[in-house]
Amino acid sequence: MLDRENDLNAWDRDHFFHPSTHMGAHARGETPRRVIAGGEGCTIVDTNGKRSLDAFAGLYCVNVGYGRTEIADAIAEQARELAYYHAYVGHGTEASITLARMIIERAPAHMSRVYFGLSGSDANETNIKLIWYYNNILGRPEKKKIISRWRGYHGSGVMTGSLTGLHLFHTAFDLPRAPILHTEAPYYFRREDRSMTEEQFSAHCAAKLEEMILAEGPDTVAAFIGEPILGTGGIVPPPAGYWAAIQAVLKKYDILLVADEVVTGFGRLGTMFGSVHYGMEPDLITIAKGLTSAYAPLSGSIISNRMWDVLVQGSDQLGPIGHGWTYSAHPVCAAAGVANLKLIDELGLVQNAGDTGAYFRKALTDALAGHRNVGEVRGDGLMAAVEFVDDKDDRRFFDPARKVGPAIAAALLEEGVIGRAMPQGDILGFAPPLCLTRAEADTVVRAAERAVRKVLG
Ligand code: PMP
Repeated sequence: MLDRENDLNAWDRDHFFHPSTHMGAHARGETPRRVIAGGEGCTIVDTNGKRSLDAFAGLYCVNVGYGRTEIADAIAEQARELAYYHAYVGHGTEASITLARMIIERAPAHMSRVYFGLSGSDANETNIKLIWYYNNILGRPEKKKIISRWRGYHGSGVMTGSLTGLHLFHTAFDLPRAPILHTEAPYYFRREDRSMTEEQFSAHCAAKLEEMILAEGPDTVAAFIGEPILGTGGIVPPPAGYWAAIQAVLKKYDILLVADEVVTGFGRLGTMFGSVHYGMEPDLITIAKGLTSAYAPLSGSIISNRMWDVLVQGSDQLGPIGHGWTYSAHPVCAAAGVANLKLIDELGLVQNAGDTGAYFRKALTDALAGHRNVGEVRGDGLMAAVEFVDDKDDRRFFDPARKVGPAIAAALLEEGVIGRAMPQGDILGFAPPLCLTRAEADTVVRAAERAVRKVLG
């Protein structure tokens, strides 16, 4: 066991290029090197036998929890029967066709078709191409710009990394690329004018968007993309009236709406889709993570009736669509998706996300909101964040060099609970599996309280 552990450490250090990792620090052994070996429910265990309650569900993706044999069996059965066939030129498998039907049954009523990919990033890449294709078919070749938001997260590719509105993902990669623009984040806690009510701030964000559209020329703006609730940018729910105000602007200038539901799709906010939760009427919905609970990589773009009608005309004009991935609708991943969506229904996880989510957020607020360095405890469903400030009355933020957020996440891990230091700001995020129990929620809250006191007193 010990030798193997040493071997793994050496191989890891010498051969494994980890994503989103400080490369030098990792090579020097300064960052935690943890080999995860198993998991059950909300708990993971590493090769040293150390257990942690994973209150971030991996990367907010293991929604049904770890160790679900129903999904493992479905994957094994599909792999034995038919591990692969492509979906080009009208081909399909029982699993992929069944999953497409199950997704549309669960999606908002005006949605029509699913295009499958493997990651949230490639699904948003598909969305960008479909938006451009759509406007080309409609004879509007100038209408191509896509407006995203600062602090939005939509992927790590060249175009999807451009959609992402976080500096870490742009700096040193020559991003963002045209034709992608960013407008103000709906981040009420960080608003400049603190006299604004939530409704006034929402109107201000919509006015900023309209200003940008008019400055660019409405005939050049194709789409707006947003997560129903900002995720990686800080777990920030929209202020009251935000989506209604934004959608009014988009309608006025015939601009498509993409709801990136990679995190919120399939129950995280206590509704099957976050779009429904916040009254959004998107033309495209991005799905990934919760679609298979990460038991296999799978994503999708759900396309509205109105968009689909135009895309179909495209084939009549241009022939087969020139966009395809080898692994689109991969049957093993689709089988995982089918088993996962069944399990979400059987276990009542959407309801639990709403109920236990409300319980968890209240307990977190009760425990931490009074602390002198806690600026805000916020969230919705089973997503929550605690934002730390140097001075509460002045709403003065900590010097980023102090790395307060990462220190608290590290202290929390020592307490046996995984939270996430969000990448921009001193923000501790939570997005546990949707099967979280109230007892587990209490454990997370008590550990968070101890971690905060340990770092900040
Ligand atoms: N969109 C959102 C809202 C996300 O949170 C993420 C990943 N965290 C992505 C897209 C990209 O997904 P992936 O990492 O699977 O490419």
